[in-house]
Amino acid sequence: MKAVAPATVVELLGVTRRYGSGATAVPAVVDASVSIWERDQVAVVGPSGSGKTTLLALMGLIERPDGGLISFLESPTDNKSEDQRADLRRAHVGLVFQLFHLIPALTALDNVLIPLLPYRPRHEIEPRARDLLLRIGLGDRLHHRPAQLSGGEQQRVAIARALINQPRLVLADEPTGNLDSKTGSRVIELLLGLQTEAGFALVVATHDDRFAARLGRVVRLSDGRVV
Ligand code: ADP
Ligand code: MG
Repeated sequence: MKAVAPATVVELLGVTRRYGSGATAVPAVVDASVSIWERDQVAVVGPSGSGKTTLLALMGLIERPDGGLISFLESPTDNKSEDQRADLRRAHVGLVFQLFHLIPALTALDNVLIPLLPYRPRHEIEPRARDLLLRIGLGDRLHHRPAQLSGGEQQRVAIARALINQPRLVLADEPTGNLDSKTGSRVIELLLGLQTEAGFALVVATHDDRFAARLGRVVRLSDGRVV
């Protein structure tokens, strides 16, 4: 039987991203070539300012490169409009942030639903949101607002929100950076457990050596370059 190579979820080839222009331009990512495959587990590490957040934003089609090529699900993206890029993000990318970015006025359940609510009837998507919250141990917190939840619980809600669209790629930017070490460990194990079940590619920017050690491989950045 012929072996089937895993599909490439996102591929960066010689990608550069600068902020600003002219003599004051800051190169945030320089000539980066990285491939992320189905079911991949990648830690992006490097000191503050080394380009981790920018690299994740490029992978998630949030930022456009100034040079180089990005392919997403094996199609080039340089010729895509902002709307097409937004459609790809919405369909295939889940984002988790250091500071959770939940909407304070909404319940946990509604925070999980919010990415899809503009596009799908509530009754179609609410069962999955409830299942996700149950699965991550928040079944008794569905109607709590973020201020009524601990930091670890808020990050778990944010993880459920990232997974509501069954993404092919989950990008987590320092997801344990604002949590104590025990809560951080739980969040790490949760993300890895969900990845095993759902099979998305997981890319985590982290300062947390314990997290980096749990992932399949490490991409190290120094001054915007992959080293
Ligand atoms: P990290 O996540 O590793 O801390 P970043 O990707 O946030 O690194 O930043 C890389 C470099 O790009 C830094 O020098 C940072 O100051 C700069 N940078 C990031 N975002 C912006 C922005 N929106 N405007 C200007 N400079 C930026
Ligand atoms: Mg960052």
